[in-house]
Amino acid sequence: MRPVIQGLRGEAGFAYIAKARELASRGVKVISFGVGQPDIPTFDHIIEEAKRALDERFTGYTETVGIPELREAIADYLNSRYQAEVGPDEVLVTTGAKTAIFLAIAAYLGPGDEVVVPEPSYPAYPEAARAMGARPVFVPLRWKGQERGFELDVEAIEEAVTSRTKMIVLTNPHNPTGEVFPPEQVEAVLEIARRHNLVVLADEIYDNFVYEGGFRSILTYSGWKDNVLYVNGHSKTFSMTGWRLGYLAAARPVIERLKRLAVNVYSCAPSISQRAGVAALRGPWEPVRRMVEEFRRRRDAVVEELRRVPGFEVPVPRGAFYIFPRVAKVLEEIGMSTEEFVDHLLYSRGVVTLPGTVFPEKAGEGFIRLSYAVSVEKIREGVGRIREEVEKLLAERGR
Ligand code: PMP
Repeated sequence: MRPVIQGLRGEAGFAYIAKARELASRGVKVISFGVGQPDIPTFDHIIEEAKRALDERFTGYTETVGIPELREAIADYLNSRYQAEVGPDEVLVTTGAKTAIFLAIAAYLGPGDEVVVPEPSYPAYPEAARAMGARPVFVPLRWKGQERGFELDVEAIEEAVTSRTKMIVLTNPHNPTGEVFPPEQVEAVLEIARRHNLVVLADEIYDNFVYEGGFRSILTYSGWKDNVLYVNGHSKTFSMTGWRLGYLAAARPVIERLKRLAVNVYSCAPSISQRAGVAALRGPWEPVRRMVEEFRRRRDAVVEELRRVPGFEVPVPRGAFYIFPRVAKVLEEIGMSTEEFVDHLLYSRGVVTLPGTVFPEKAGEGFIRLSYAVSVEKIREGVGRIREEVEKLLAERGR
């Protein structure tokens, strides 16, 4: 096998779930801020449609690009919300957003090519690039302190562009920081891509998890089809992570070419999930709104609790369901690395967090990620445990 495949990193979230499960089996009351999925089941009207699809024995292969009803529903969603001017033939349905990411990267990046990835980053982009023999070039987000959080370093992104660069990744709202990048920064990235003839891989899978104004989809910029590959999906918005449904929107010739890759990889997304996916987009949207309201309450609770932990710097995340506090001051005091600290919280208090260094390298050093897709009660209990442990560690240190 090619050594590069052997060297690919797994997704840390899944590794920590395994550790947590092992602890729980030994009777520890684990609270997990590890995994990135809503804690509620898929909404009833979506389940009902999946049942109907089964009753009708809608169980065969479908068109590779997705069933027409779903492509239309996706186009309608993007058009009504973002005036995107997307036609159903500019949509490709995939097996989760991750497959959309992989197809995009496999189609555009070959050996020796480069992709600019703002870091910290969701790891799937750089790992897919590596699998293709391409090189991720990481550009750290700028840390502006607790009050201002993170921003894209637009100048550094442009400086990172070389003659080998083919793509820039832009995740907005952002995993793992929960940041929503202001329109000027999105526009600036789009401008850089245009100037240098690059594609932007725009992942907006958290577009419904936005708690304050200020989010502007890349699809609202005219001419986006010239160089944007847009990724979204059902996993987060409709709490459908296990249904494996995502999609890519781009200019029609691009979709035509990606289709050839898709048919050779997965033939089509699951037929039943596609039918359910139509029901999800057609609504009612009230359950989504209720879920997002609940997540706003959780966001407020997690900020409040984390700000009570001594030494933590806690920016207010405006989107997704992640928070990325800076814990470097505590680590310095107690002499632990980011990973040691995360392991210590797990084994001493049964609280799962992720070290910033799994996203995927150095920019996350001194930060931890919490997914607050759990009840407010669990947030207060879990972060309370973190606070007690940090207070204890700091007191021991002072002695
Ligand atoms: N993009 C981002 C930014 C994500 O956080 C995730 C899931 N954690 C995905 C894509 C993958 O989504 P899916 O489960 O639909 O493949």
